[in-house]
Amino acid sequence: MEYEAVIGLEVHVQLNTKTKAFCSCPNIFGAPANTMTCPRCQAHPGALPVLNKEMVHKTIKAGIATNCTIEEKSRFERKHYFYPDLPGYYQITQMENPICTNGHLNFTVFNEDGSSYDKYVRINRIHMEEDAGKLVHDDTGRPLSYVDLNRAGSCLIECVTEPDISTGEEAYRYLTELKKILQYIDVSDCNMEEGSLRCDANVSIRPKGATEYGTKAEVKNMNSFRNVRAAIDYEIKRQIKAVNNGEKIKQETRLFDAKENTTKSMRSKEGMADYRYFPDPDLPILTLSAEEIKKAKNELPELPQQKRDRLKRDYDLPDQDIVVLTENEALANYYEEAVKAYPKQPKKISNWIMVEVNAYLNTKLITIKEFKPEASHIADIFRLIDEGTISSKIAKEIFVYMCETGEAPSIIIEKKGLKQVSDSSALESIISKVLEENEKSVTDYKAGKEQSFGFLVGQTMKATKGQGNPKLINEILKNLLNK
Ligand code: ADP
Ligand code: ZN
Ligand code: MG
Repeated sequence: MEYEAVIGLEVHVQLNTKTKAFCSCPNIFGAPANTMTCPRCQAHPGALPVLNKEMVHKTIKAGIATNCTIEEKSRFERKHYFYPDLPGYYQITQMENPICTNGHLNFTVFNEDGSSYDKYVRINRIHMEEDAGKLVHDDTGRPLSYVDLNRAGSCLIECVTEPDISTGEEAYRYLTELKKILQYIDVSDCNMEEGSLRCDANVSIRPKGATEYGTKAEVKNMNSFRNVRAAIDYEIKRQIKAVNNGEKIKQETRLFDAKENTTKSMRSKEGMADYRYFPDPDLPILTLSAEEIKKAKNELPELPQQKRDRLKRDYDLPDQDIVVLTENEALANYYEEAVKAYPKQPKKISNWIMVEVNAYLNTKLITIKEFKPEASHIADIFRLIDEGTISSKIAKEIFVYMCETGEAPSIIIEKKGLKQVSDSSALESIISKVLEENEKSVTDYKAGKEQSFGFLVGQTMKATKGQGNPKLINEILKNLLNK
């Protein structure tokens, strides 16, 4: 029997609001324990919640950017459970009536062979809720844990997909796209290692083509997108193997083990009724005006999908280039700035940014914002090549200096004497000497051995220390050899 996987993702994202969700405590990461707290986020009885308008505004933006409907009315509920990092023993969240519903994301998924396909994933909802505090476990071996409530009550959104995802790779691409959007609209830094983005994966399998869903396992504890992909891929294999062995899949929560790349059973899932959801009596129904929604919409920048469509239209680039260049907004802007400064070579500039610039950023572990050369200087490189002032080989040399000093290519060329030798008489005498020194290659060439030509070009380049104009060298060599 052939099986297919059915996957739905639940993603929690910490919003970068100035203050917490229902009190005015600052929302700061890394402050000394319990210093960013007040009676409300410590859950003292009688301390009333006051809704943070910035949280609502940023959630609306996230909803519009993910093609959701923004609900005119939504409601807060209490979700009850016991855990020491949750001082009130309930979390304020939205269950029945979330603020955003029925969205979707579109993105490209690449196959291993380099081909790709478009994927459409429906978003069931985005709702607002408060975060819990943190337990800090004693690291001296004593059986003690401490509670830090700095994070308690800070702003979270939860974005829940429909079970439209079929592979670990699709989940990886979905997360990448969601993160990109939330970063573009500046509502979160989405740093999974620091916990500002957390993802649970619901995984089930069913006979290929079946319409009913199988029983799902919920996998938690992944701290990177790669781990989400690995956890899903493992979980699919595990379930197929279990079913083939005649076992039944249990509805349960499983933890990803990053060392072994496996998932392990943690607990069977608590039933819905255990949470005893009910509307929070301290918070009124949230009613949004059309103006509020319009204001949020007007504040949105060009979103990743729009940017991709436009770059494709304006510069006629392949999909792969577009995906790389729109990896973040700053890189896309850098590319466009360079092309605006020299519009003749959009594809060559794209190649240069994807390969040379990205390689430099990766080795230095910096972002494009910290990159010294101005975009217009990258453009200068291509102007100078097209004008015949430098060869593409010299361009690479110049680029290395540029990265260190941030100087313009023209200045580096002056300083280092890197101008291309385009003086034909100078080149002719160099080439004549090369021909004298390589008589055998000349004879070979004349006897029909084409490779000898390339060898002679190489020798000439070497003699000009890489500064010969390759086009001219080719011409002169041909002339001299065919004499
Ligand atoms: P629960 O009530 O267990 O929390 P929900 O219906 O709220 O389940 O769905 C939670 C997440 O699980 C959603 O992302 C949804 O798409 C996904 N999901 C639901 N059913 C399945 C299934 N059979 N297999 C995989 N994912 C599923
Ligand atoms: Zn507080
Ligand atoms: Mg649910």
